[in-house]
Amino acid sequence: MPFPDLADRVREVAQRIAAARQRGGHGQPVRIIAVTKTHGPDAVAAAAAVGIDDVGENRVQEALRKMDATALRVRWHLIGHLQRNKVAAVQRFDLMHSLDSLRLADAVSELGRSTERPVPVLAQVNVAGEESKGGFSLSDLPSAAERLANLGGLEVVGVMTMAPLGADDSMLRSTFRGARNALSVLCAAGHRATELSMGMSNDYEVAVEEGATYVRLGTVLFGARPA
Ligand SMILES: *Cc1c(COP(=O)(O)O)cnc(C)c1O
Repeated sequence: MPFPDLADRVREVAQRIAAARQRGGHGQPVRIIAVTKTHGPDAVAAAAAVGIDDVGENRVQEALRKMDATALRVRWHLIGHLQRNKVAAVQRFDLMHSLDSLRLADAVSELGRSTERPVPVLAQVNVAGEESKGGFSLSDLPSAAERLANLGGLEVVGVMTMAPLGADDSMLRSTFRGARNALSVLCAAGHRATELSMGMSNDYEVAVEEGATYVRLGTVLFGARPA
């Protein structure tokens, strides 16, 4: 059995999430997404076996291979950048967390309209304004939210963000609060946005305190990723 201590790890993480949720006082539901990138389909099976049926992948080709290799009914989350020429693959996912530009939104919208299946997405926001990361800046978001509200074929159901690498506690908090504000901006533009995807292995407790509804966890569940 691969990942023999996964059940213990999940129990510990769930306890930490419950405590953080209590401290935060937002009363939101919190779901764990098991980030299985670089691991094989056995990681998906191991997660499902301990009751986690939300799985996250950041690369489309790798995700599709894993989907094809498993018959398990889990919910697949796309958490990495999607190239516009691979946009059709979004239909294989239950939720795309990485809608990071209006150009990509146009492509997703076209797909959703042509298939008559609106694509659920999260708007990725780059709260700290990092050059190295994609996503909407907080200053662009109000106008982008209006544009997105007028596109058919997609439903913006929330926000995703990543904190800067090595951020200290106050930076983490301001990033996650910025994402929570971004959710209000979407709602003000008419989106029914409720999901906040934020928090990874190093910072999920702060994210939950600040209102995360999805935490995306790899290392803390499966150990260090193979290089
Ligand atoms: C890899 C990845 C994660 C999980 O990272 P860990 O630190 O291993 O928990 C979360 N979100 C995204 C977007 C990722 O690419």
